Amino acid sequence: MKAAPDANFATQCIHGGLEPDPQTGAVMTPIYQTSTYAQSAPGEHKGYEYARTGNPTRTALQDNLAALEKGKFGICFSSGLAAMDAILRTLRPGDEVLASDDLYGGSYRLLTAVMGNFGIKSRFVDMRDTDKLAGLITEETKLLWIETPTNPMLNIVDIQALTALARKRGILTCVDNTFASPYLQQPLEMGADLVLHSATKYLGGHSDVVMGAIITRDEELAKQLYYLQNAVGAVPGPQDCFLVLRGIKTLHLRVQRACENARHIVEVLQQNELVANVYYPGLPDHPRHEIAARQMRDFGGMVSFDLKEDTLEAATEVMKNTHYFTLAESLGGVESLIGHPASMTHASIPREQRLSVGLTDSLIRLSVGVEDAEDLVKDLQQALAAAVAVG
Ligand SMILES: *Cc1c(COP(=O)(O)O)cnc(C)c1O
Repeated sequence: MKAAPDANFATQCIHGGLEPDPQTGAVMTPIYQTSTYAQSAPGEHKGYEYARTGNPTRTALQDNLAALEKGKFGICFSSGLAAMDAILRTLRPGDEVLASDDLYGGSYRLLTAVMGNFGIKSRFVDMRDTDKLAGLITEETKLLWIETPTNPMLNIVDIQALTALARKRGILTCVDNTFASPYLQQPLEMGADLVLHSATKYLGGHSDVVMGAIITRDEELAKQLYYLQNAVGAVPGPQDCFLVLRGIKTLHLRVQRACENARHIVEVLQQNELVANVYYPGLPDHPRHEIAARQMRDFGGMVSFDLKEDTLEAATEVMKNTHYFTLAESLGGVESLIGHPASMTHASIPREQRLSVGLTDSLIRLSVGVEDAEDLVKDLQQALAAAVAVG
């Protein structure tokens, strides 16, 4: 049965916004694999006319997501970037977006290479310095685009400080909550107008679907976004909606375990003499640890580190020798992944600029999965040892 609004997170994962199927009593939301719906007379129907406009499996997922993020409205899209595109389409030529300077690469590309052509301007700023940011806001600024924790340096932005500033200046805020997941961080509760997810990552959680979602409490914004969902048409299919609904049922368990495993791995990496720096917001000496502790329930499954021998070759040896950590893009699945931002996700950023934010040639990013912690630790230790043997 539908969870009460004040039910706790684990209950929301299983029951939030969801009811047994009204037609059959099916406990799990059916996959309504249909493009259209019978009408009893022209315009007389049961709330569904055509599946771009609406589909019951998608509705169930949207209601579930709204409950998870403590919002009122969920709006799903065919990918995280399609969801972001919908938000940017609510802007007008001449409007400006202020975004984190250490942003997901695809979000940067959409803002600059696509939206730039439609007269939407973007500036990329260090969102850790709220006072400086306040000075950069102009009449044209309409949207603050926030990402925290950031990729791959795992910097933390103070969501509450930024939403308070934006509200005072009449600017909307959107938090890309993909890295944290709603289990760890709920930006609407901290004053954000919009939350964005690449559901491809922790929400889906099994690396078998690409999807995006937006959650809001604002009825006016929701109306515009539902309109764009139908008018532009980047909608997810019912099978994918089912997969994400299914993934969410274990979101809390998966993220809990990923956080636990990450803690073990961070400890071992810190003790390894081949490792130079470990980046993880759960470390007491992380420069923004206190903010992370305030706004997150735990510190997540993403860990970055670099090597004392700071070369691409040394990092490559480590990545070639892991057994359970698969070398691949993406994150947030049950399986552990390993990646090299300098040559993979962040290859298009000039080296000087990369180095200036600490993204060294040997920086390695881990998406820690839910395997056994001891096995993951052993795997990294042997890969580091193998890299030295070759070096
Ligand atoms: C993957 C990702 C996106 C884009 O989502 P897609 O589902 O791949 O379109 C946006 N933001 C962040 C932080 C991501 O990791």
